[in-house]
Amino acid sequence: MKKAKKTIGVVSFCLIIFLLSACSTSDKTNETNTSSEKLQVVVTNSILSDMTQTIAGDKIDLHSIVPVGKDPHEYEPLPEDMKKASKADLIFYNGLNLETGGNAWFTKLMENANKKENQDYFAVSEGVEILYLEEANEAGKEDPHAWLNLENGQIYAKNIGRQLMEKDPANHAYYQANLDHYLKQLAELDQEAKSKFATIPIDKKMIVTSEGCFKYFSKAYGIPSAYIWEINTEEEGTPHQIKELVEQLRATKVPALFVESSVDDRPMKTISTDTNIPIYATIFTDSVAEKGRDGDSYYAMMKWNLDKIAEGLSK
Ligand SMILES: [Zn+2]
Repeated sequence: MKKAKKTIGVVSFCLIIFLLSACSTSDKTNETNTSSEKLQVVVTNSILSDMTQTIAGDKIDLHSIVPVGKDPHEYEPLPEDMKKASKADLIFYNGLNLETGGNAWFTKLMENANKKENQDYFAVSEGVEILYLEEANEAGKEDPHAWLNLENGQIYAKNIGRQLMEKDPANHAYYQANLDHYLKQLAELDQEAKSKFATIPIDKKMIVTSEGCFKYFSKAYGIPSAYIWEINTEEEGTPHQIKELVEQLRATKVPALFVESSVDDRPMKTISTDTNIPIYATIFTDSVAEKGRDGDSYYAMMKWNLDKIAEGLSK
């Protein structure tokens, strides 16, 4: 009798433990659905940050690594970047040699944060038609600036949307609706650009910038490009580079030069003085503008660039 009582006691004790643990499990499930448990997302630069925020709204916590106006090719991650990358559920980078060329800062960051490609971090440029640096046609020599073609911008947005939906299925419909709306806006701007550039006289059609970042743009909108240096990871604005561009420009009727917000503008000022061609505007290539200014989103920076380039080349 005594033994039976003891057995019942043990059974009911186990039952209580079981119920308690069942309760605490269901508590945890509820917690993941509250706002304090938002998807932790890290992106490498201000352009990807804006695209991601446009699609994800307030459903995620977002950390953007390279600050607005700074060069995303070469960067030294801060302790804060390392901390956020380690804790991230999802990381987006451009790929195509942007963050992994030069000092390869992103490759090192992902190694140190113990993150795996296509599991934790994803190249948003996946699926674009790759263009290469001049006289190079090999992996590691990709031209990274694919986002300067709005059709590629739509591929970026789709890649970002897909990963958000996969990692955070509870907000699938929200992400999908924002993505659909965004894709429509980008497609409309792309059409606007194509019809605008079609009207510029052929002998004025050339976009001149410091970095040769307009290959994707040139191909998409039928405007050849010229530059002082080809990519920000090489020497920027040497006397030889300046001399070559000045000679090239003297043989054209190009009415305007442009300078990018994220580079030193002195070499382009020298070009302008030597050729007598004015710098028409500052445009945005590797970064969006500061919040509240013209060009402070991917859409706005592309719109600004398209308008300024069309105006400048029509002079
Ligand atoms: Zn660049």
